[in-house]
Amino acid sequence: MGVMRSALLWVSRNDWMRETLPRYRFMRRAVNRFMPGEQAEDALDAAGLLKANGFSTVFTRLGENVRNEAEADEVTKHYCALADDIAARRLDGHISVKLTQLGHDLDQNLSFRNLRLIIAQAEKHKNFVWIDMEGSAYTESTIKLFERIRSECSNVGLCLQSYLHRCLEDIRRLSPLNPAIRLVKGAYAEPASIAYQKKSDVDENFVRCSLEMLNWGKQHGIVPVFGTHDTRLIDKIRQEAGKVGLSKGALEFHLLYGIKRDEQSRLVREGCRVRVLISYGSYWFPWYMRRLAERPANVAFVLKNLFG
Ligand SMILES: Cc1cc2nc3c(=O)[nH]c(=O)nc-3n(C[C@H](O)[C@H](O)[C@H](O)COP(=O)(O)OP(=O)(O)OC[C@H]3O[C@@H](n4cnc5c(N)ncnc54)[C@H](O)[C@@H]3O)c2cc1C
Repeated sequence: MGVMRSALLWVSRNDWMRETLPRYRFMRRAVNRFMPGEQAEDALDAAGLLKANGFSTVFTRLGENVRNEAEADEVTKHYCALADDIAARRLDGHISVKLTQLGHDLDQNLSFRNLRLIIAQAEKHKNFVWIDMEGSAYTESTIKLFERIRSECSNVGLCLQSYLHRCLEDIRRLSPLNPAIRLVKGAYAEPASIAYQKKSDVDENFVRCSLEMLNWGKQHGIVPVFGTHDTRLIDKIRQEAGKVGLSKGALEFHLLYGIKRDEQSRLVREGCRVRVLISYGSYWFPWYMRRLAERPANVAFVLKNLFG
């Protein structure tokens, strides 16, 4: 892992910086590149514009590791109301949540109950809920919770990370559930004992996992989802999908708002299903540091806002 990436991931976990840096205007200007605003309304408006250009969306309110039940309850109510707003605006917009936003650190039954409420509200509108994957301390408990909730609900999917050695095994473990899986590379700092450190190894595992997902997607009629901006991987997956006989409409690519916009448009022009994940909320600092860590060249953009 590069020094800059490690440093940015360290900053993302530092409480003092998390409290202090977001107050600076240059930081707020820089983050605007990746999120349309802090309010749900901003995200809903952005989704309307994207819809007009052929994109579906996913909404996530930034936040993680709530400290008490009342905070988890507030987040749950927020997402239930968001499901109503998405439906009222007739958007094809899924919801993506972090379990630690729903109280997973406090009590796993609490996060289960809160997630169940959000899924039930989404279900009323025939909508779908994704569970994000957080750092490796949560991998096993997140998968277990997904197994539990998937046996009750069909409108829920899970994110898995190809930098983890265990990723392919997890895909195989979950496949009897016919699950919706969004494969990503992984955004946290993880040790070499459990995660690939070299980009080429993470990419290689991404391809290995993708092939597995394409095959069971074909066999069971499940839409495999790939969350990446890596053009080379996207093209490779499209090629492999063709080889196993999956049409363009039988898989989906998810990309983050504001990243590789040209690539997003190219995919839509070429008839692919594309969802743009829109983040919003005031708790953006750790998330933004992870975005900088993915592409340290982005730091130059922050500095330009400082001096520009
Ligand atoms: C829809 C979606 C959901 C995600 N959910 C999770 C999750 O639940 N858990 C998790 O751990 N991670 C999640 N991630 C983040 C993911 O793990 C990666 O950290 C992130 O997508 C960068 O990897 P990449 O696949 O784009 O490939 P990379 O090899 O990192 O990037 C490929 C190219 O994309 C461009 N690019 C990538 N990131 C940036 C950036 N921040 N700024 C500017 N350009 C960039 C660059 O041109 C780069 O060369 C999600 C990503 C997406 C797209």
